[in-house]
Amino acid sequence: TAKEAGKDQYKFYTREMQDWALERIYLIGCLHEALQKNELFLVYQPQIDIRNAAIISFEALLRWNSHTQGCIPPAKFIPLAEQSGFIHVVGEWVLQHACCFMRQLLDQGWNGRIDINVSPKQLAAVNFVENTCAVIQKAGISFQHIGFEITESLCIAGIIPLEEAVDKLSQLTALGIHISMDDFGTGYSSLTLLDELPFHTIKLDKSFIDKIETDAHRENFIGSIIHMIHTLDKKVVAEGVETEKQLEHLQHCGCDYIQGYLFSKPLSKEEAFGLLLTGTDACKHRYR
Ligand code: C2E
Ligand code: MG
Ligand code: MG
Ligand code: MG
Repeated sequence: TAKEAGKDQYKFYTREMQDWALERIYLIGCLHEALQKNELFLVYQPQIDIRNAAIISFEALLRWNSHTQGCIPPAKFIPLAEQSGFIHVVGEWVLQHACCFMRQLLDQGWNGRIDINVSPKQLAAVNFVENTCAVIQKAGISFQHIGFEITESLCIAGIIPLEEAVDKLSQLTALGIHISMDDFGTGYSSLTLLDELPFHTIKLDKSFIDKIETDAHRENFIGSIIHMIHTLDKKVVAEGVETEKQLEHLQHCGCDYIQGYLFSKPLSKEEAFGLLLTGTDACKHRYR
């Protein structure tokens, strides 16, 4: 189409592409420095039991506040880190800091779980299982307090063969680590993967939940998916729940857990401690 539009147009596109390539190289350089300059930090978003509003876990979400660029969203820098291979270093940093937070929570008497996003590229690394175990043990936490979230696209993208994914995830679950399939419903949503990979929990992507408001027959649709996942003996988390109406529908459909702004945005460490102290009584009326 650039060709059809004429010579000048074509030049314009290549120029844009070149700029983007340069910006990427520049940002990857900044990300390397970000680690040393303390520009990275984690925030924590609770996942709660839909029946009684109890906090079952906190999901660790990475933030980058660059001194020169301002806040850069993970949707922008995580793919860059994956492409450049820097994700392994970033991933280990995230794991260490999330474990450190979990250690503090345990010391305060909270016995829940911390869920960490793991890129399929990380899982594909030869020493992934050994390395992660070493970090968790060094932090002095037992494995039941750790969960990993991995997107459903992990095998389809050809990043890791199915047998290897099954093998590694089985090793992790055998240790007691909780495994969630993230963003279910966004990619190809293979029923084979759903059945064969040893996930404990399936996270229904926000794009599904958003449609509850606009589409009347969606309630039945989501209800059927939840029912199917339960048939496989797995639990369901609804991601990005923002309204009372969505919550009502999800309760009606038998969803197990919810996460979203309706209950809480991602919190700083201090805010998370605060939430555990004050408890969830303020929103208990919504739950039965
Ligand atoms: P995700 O794991 O699916 O995380 C959910 C995203 O939805 C988060 O965005 C969260 O802040 C946002 N969210 C939660 N509830 C609501 C809601 O009610 N409404 C709206 N509009 N948004 C909500 P965030 O933090 O920007 O992260 C985006 C993605 O970046 C994550 O998606 C995850 O795939 C990736 N990511 C974040 N941290 C890490 C990390 O440490 N490692 C890796 N590999 N990926 C990460
Ligand atoms: Mg996640
Ligand atoms: Mg998710
Ligand atoms: Mg998502």
